[in-house]
Amino acid sequence: MVAAVAEQAGTLLHGMGDVYPPRVKVELLEAICARFPGGGGARAVLGSSGSDAVETALKTAMLATGRSGIIAFEGGYHGLSFGALTTTEREMFRAPFAGRLAGATHFAPYGEVEPLRALPDDDIAAVIVEPLQGRGGERIPPEGFLRGLRSLCDERGWLLIADEIYTGFGRTGRWFACEHEDVVPDLLCVGKGLAAGMPLSACLGRPGVMDAWPASGGEALHTQTFLGHPAACAAGLASLGLLEREELVRRCARLGEEALDHLREEIHGRPLAAKAIREIRGRGLMIGIEGHGDTALRACGIALRAGVIALPSGARSEVLGITPPLTIDRDLLFDALGRVVHAFAQ
Ligand code: PLP
Repeated sequence: MVAAVAEQAGTLLHGMGDVYPPRVKVELLEAICARFPGGGGARAVLGSSGSDAVETALKTAMLATGRSGIIAFEGGYHGLSFGALTTTEREMFRAPFAGRLAGATHFAPYGEVEPLRALPDDDIAAVIVEPLQGRGGERIPPEGFLRGLRSLCDERGWLLIADEIYTGFGRTGRWFACEHEDVVPDLLCVGKGLAAGMPLSACLGRPGVMDAWPASGGEALHTQTFLGHPAACAAGLASLGLLEREELVRRCARLGEEALDHLREEIHGRPLAAKAIREIRGRGLMIGIEGHGDTALRACGIALRAGVIALPSGARSEVLGITPPLTIDRDLLFDALGRVVHAFAQ
């Protein structure tokens, strides 16, 4: 990864926006479009942050449908730039800016399709969903939820946007988390693991939807100075190559199951931890430990002092999230899990 970034930096460090795309950007676009779960012909718009990808998805949905309403879910996190923030449902992030957010989004309970049927559909462009909520607390929806959303969107003519910024590129043991239900979204947002540590994101879409973007008449309707930065694209290509060569997605699925088993054993051996923990859950290497009261947040602090970086998640930081690199050594992961359980016991 480092070598790929260094080499690109020595060749061409900056390629302006979309205007004259350098080769590495085109190669990256071709590589990720080939991974779109819906098969051939996908197209993509690059960005620098996850929020950028969500902005592009929302704009695409408006262009493609001529409508502006969005349905999103309680506990969902799609980023904090203004467009993305309209769809992020966490009071703390929204309250100071509420004046510009009102009315743009209908929020529905996560995991349920039925309440959406009652919504008037005249102005709805799209449903945006995390196939597994990340910052909302590693919440895995009930089986059938994503399929139900797909068929409702088809019935109503709404687009389905899968926000896989957290879950994409192997994190849950599949290339994309919507593949757990064999669902193909119309638009797919990716970021984070796409370039494994470099700032790069993308909104991918099926051709019929992405065609809504007009050809540039000298000025692109949507762009950004550093969009698809060459060094980040080189990192993305290197990371995709690693995922494929080392079969990291399959490894992630297997290691995730072993990690959950190991966690259960560790908790079983520590009655104090068992008392502090309400539930453990996970898919691949996206694992959440939900605590009673504020134990998860406090355990994050204790784990940090024991050398383990975990992330609080959930509306009240009631979950300790564990999302290690997909390359993590098995013994190192198990050692870290032991320290986390010890932290809950403390
Ligand atoms: N969408 C999801 C599902 C995320 O988890 C995040 C970040 O945590 C974002 C969007 C926003 O990404 P960024 O922080 O890169 O803007």
